[in-house]
Amino acid sequence: MVDENGERAVAPIVSVQRASTEDGPGLRTTVFVKGCSLECLWCHNPEAVSPKPEVLWNDWRCMGSRACDAVCPREAISRVDGTVRVDRKLCDACGRCVEACPSTALELVGAPRTAEDVAAEVLRDRSYYSGGGGLTVSGGEPGLRPAFVVRLVQLCRQAGVHTAVDTCGMCSPRAIERIAEAADLILYDLKEMDDRRHRRFTGQSNERILGNFLRLAAQRAAGRSRAAIWIRTPLVPGATATEENVTAIGRFLSTIEAPIERWELCAFNNLARDKYRRLGRTWKFADTPLLSREELERLTAAARRS
Ligand code: SF4
Ligand code: SF4
Repeated sequence: MVDENGERAVAPIVSVQRASTEDGPGLRTTVFVKGCSLECLWCHNPEAVSPKPEVLWNDWRCMGSRACDAVCPREAISRVDGTVRVDRKLCDACGRCVEACPSTALELVGAPRTAEDVAAEVLRDRSYYSGGGGLTVSGGEPGLRPAFVVRLVQLCRQAGVHTAVDTCGMCSPRAIERIAEAADLILYDLKEMDDRRHRRFTGQSNERILGNFLRLAAQRAAGRSRAAIWIRTPLVPGATATEENVTAIGRFLSTIEAPIERWELCAFNNLARDKYRRLGRTWKFADTPLLSREELERLTAAARRS
């Protein structure tokens, strides 16, 4: 289906995760869109950063049959220290290795799906949403696929389901505007206020992200969007988890006229280690210790003071 902007409501999807408790209010079904405009060093969804389909290796299922090596026409599969590695430059995501694996240890993620198809899957969970839950579209960056996101949100809202979209804000201003007109809630990431540090951590300036946020807030303040706004700040040790950063974000938010319903400080965890292993990649933050209770209290106090 093509929307009024001539765009197809289709997006590459990593997964549809049920019973999520961390992506907005209540129990939610989270749709992870593939493809991101940032490359955060600490990213917890590395499989969602590239927009292309990718093969993942589930080590706990692998019986070492080597059926995958034998069928790969591009010689993209190798083994390093007992782990299966897929050379992303050689792999064209043909899926032959996935079909050949007798123990379903390989998985191809990122196939394009229509909003109608994904909505049908999400609405199967409708009975779980009565306690205030609903749909959350996350990623990757949903704002890179506005036609898909708007259509998916519309279909779920028409069915009486609450809808949220989690964005890093690095997309076109019009995309944010369209999504805010459609959704009930925007979860907006503000990661780092210092632009040089933001570039270092994410590969991009924060200028557009802050500009899009100001436009979103103005849209909300003027009553041109129904979407409530929650802010999310990842507290990453050695990166964003500084009093200076939390204070700067708090001061920025205090200048905003639109109501900000909630500001979540999201403490770093290293649960994404397994995902990096499945992608055959090393992760700089794999052995980063978690923030201590004292550090979290100090940062929370800085947020309250700001
Ligand atoms: S914005 Fe999110 S999905 Fe994109 S790279 Fe950063 S942490 Fe990963
Ligand atoms: S998807 Fe195709 S090209 Fe990629 S590793 Fe598997 S068999 Fe090889």
